[in-house]
Amino acid sequence: MRAPSDDLAKPQEGGSVSSGSSEASTDPLNPEQDEGWEDAEPDEEENLQVKDFFSDETFPNARAMLEFCQDQHGFDFVGVQKDLGLDFYSSIKLVNYLRSAAKAGNTNPDVSSKELFEDNKYLQPVIEDDALLFCLDELSDNQPSSQPAISNSAKGKAVDGDGDPFARIAELEEQLQRLQSQFNEYRLTVAKTLDERWNDKSSDAQADPSKQVLPAPKDDDSHYFESYSYNDIHETMLKDRIRTDSYRDFIYNNKHLFKGKTVLDVGCGTGILSMFCAKAGAKRVFAVDNSAIIDKARENIFENGLQDIITCHHGKVEEIVLPLNKGQKVDIIVSEWMGYCLLYEAMLDSVIWARDRYLKPDGLMVPSHCTLHIAPICDPDYIAECVSFWHDVYGFGMAAMMDKINDDVLVRHLDQDVLASEGTPFLQLPLHTISTADLTFVKEFETKLQRDVDGLDGWCIWFDTFFLPDRTKSPSTGARAETYKDEGNAFTTGPGGKETHWRSGVMLIDRRKSKQGQPLRKGQKLVGSVEYRKRKGNSRELDIEIKWDAEGGEEKGGQTWFMR
Ligand code: SAH
Repeated sequence: MRAPSDDLAKPQEGGSVSSGSSEASTDPLNPEQDEGWEDAEPDEEENLQVKDFFSDETFPNARAMLEFCQDQHGFDFVGVQKDLGLDFYSSIKLVNYLRSAAKAGNTNPDVSSKELFEDNKYLQPVIEDDALLFCLDELSDNQPSSQPAISNSAKGKAVDGDGDPFARIAELEEQLQRLQSQFNEYRLTVAKTLDERWNDKSSDAQADPSKQVLPAPKDDDSHYFESYSYNDIHETMLKDRIRTDSYRDFIYNNKHLFKGKTVLDVGCGTGILSMFCAKAGAKRVFAVDNSAIIDKARENIFENGLQDIITCHHGKVEEIVLPLNKGQKVDIIVSEWMGYCLLYEAMLDSVIWARDRYLKPDGLMVPSHCTLHIAPICDPDYIAECVSFWHDVYGFGMAAMMDKINDDVLVRHLDQDVLASEGTPFLQLPLHTISTADLTFVKEFETKLQRDVDGLDGWCIWFDTFFLPDRTKSPSTGARAETYKDEGNAFTTGPGGKETHWRSGVMLIDRRKSKQGQPLRKGQKLVGSVEYRKRKGNSRELDIEIKWDAEGGEEKGGQTWFMR
C-alpha cells in the first residue's frame, strides 16, 4: 500500500536522491522489465457438479441433470422456461425459486406463472457455488426441451452439413457473446445483492448474535478511501515488483499452507493477493475493501474465473459482516497494509482488528513481521542538492518550495553512501500478537558511526517486511531483509535494497533552529529515541520525534517531523 497523498508519493523532480546504480536495471516502476509476469499458475481442471432440483443426485453438466429431473420427477425445466418466456435473469430466479422450494421440502413447486418467482431475492443463489447457475448458458432459451444443449446441437449441425456451417458458427459466436455478457452482468448483480444482504447488519445480527458488529469508528477518512478508487495508485503498487513479487513468492512457495484454507484479504484493492491465494489452492477467499476499487476487483476475479472461490465485500473490514457461521474463523489473513515509515495511514489498526475478530487462534498472518530501522544521514552534498535545487529551477528561484523541507518527513530512496552507519532496528512488530496500543511508542536506539563526518544532517527511517510460514517463529534478532536466508522471505524498503514505491522517510535537521552540526568520528556512538504519535485530528497522519546524543561529543538535539 502507499499513502494516498500524491504530493508525498510523487518522485521528486530533480532526482536528487535516487540510487543511481539500481535504477537503470531494476526500476520497479518500469513496465518494460516484464520477465516474470507469466505468474498466474495454470488452471487446474474444474470439477463442477450440477445438483438435481429435488434429490441429492449430481451430474457433470446441466443438460444431464435436467434430463434426469424430467425422467425422475417429471419436471421439465426447459419446457417451463419456454412456456413462461423466461429471459436469462428470470431463468436464474426460477432455479433459485426451485432450489428454495426443495430446501423447504416442496418437491412439486407451483411454476404456473413467472410472478411466483419475480422477487429479486431469487437472484441470490440458494446453494453455495450452484454449478447450474454457471451452466445456464449451455441451455438455449429457444430450444425445445427434448433437444440437447446448444453446444452439442451446434456441433451436430455443422458436422452434418445441415445448413451453412459458417453462418451457424457466426450465429453461435454471437449467441455465446450475448450469454457471456448476460452472465457477467448477472454475477455482478448477484454479488451486489449479496453484499447488501451481508451488510444488512441488523437482520444478520438478529439472526445470529455472533455477528453483532462493534460500533463503527469515527468516519474521518472518506478521502482516504476515495484515493484508492483510482487506477493509478493500484498500478503503482502492482508494478512495485519488490512488493508484489514478495507476496506472490511467499504464497506460491507455500501452497501447502493455503490448500483448502479460508483466507481473508484485508484491503484487497484490485484483488491481486486474493487471486494469488486462490491460485495457491485456497478453498475460500473473502476480499474486502472499502474503496470503489472493489468493483474492479470483482470483475478482475470474474475475468480470471475465480469467482467461485473469492467473494468481494464492499465496506470497512470493521463494519462488514462476513458470511461465516457462528464461531467460524479464517485460517489466514493476508494484507498489504504498510504505509510510509510503515505506520502512515494507520491501516495496521484495521488489520489487527480483523485478526482479533476473524483469525483462528492458530491462524497465520501474511506478512508475519515488520521491523523499523533508523540511520544517521551525514552528507553535505546531498543536503545541498536537496536545498539548492529550489534556488534554480529552469532559471527561476523557488525558495518558497523549501518552506517545509525541514518540518516534513520527505519520501526519498537514498543511496547508502548518504548514511553514516548501517541502519539499526528500533522496533519489531510481530503481527500475530501486536496490539493497536503498541503502534504509538517511544523506542530507544544506538548506532556507531562508520566514518568521520563533518556533522549530522538528518535521519532516515525505513522498514523490512518478513513472511514466515510458521506463526510460532520470528526472524532472528538483527535479521535484515536484504540478507534474509531463513524460512519464508522478506523485502526491505531501505537504502540497502532496490527502490520500492515506499522509498524511505528522510528527516532533515533544521539547523536554523538548533546549533550547527558538530564533527563526529568513526566509531563514535549515537544514542537516541524515536517516537511515533498519531496526529490529533487525523489519526492516519504521523508525527515522528527523534532525540539524539553523541557520546563524548557536543552533538545533541531533538526535532519532530510531520508526515501529512
Ligand atoms: N491488496 C491490494 C491493495 C493494497 S492497498 C494490493 O496488494 O495491491 C490497501 C487497500 O486497503 C486500499 O484499497 C484501501 O481502500 C483498503 N483498506 C484500507 N483500510 C481498509 C479497511 N479498514 N477496510 C477495508 N478496506 C481497507
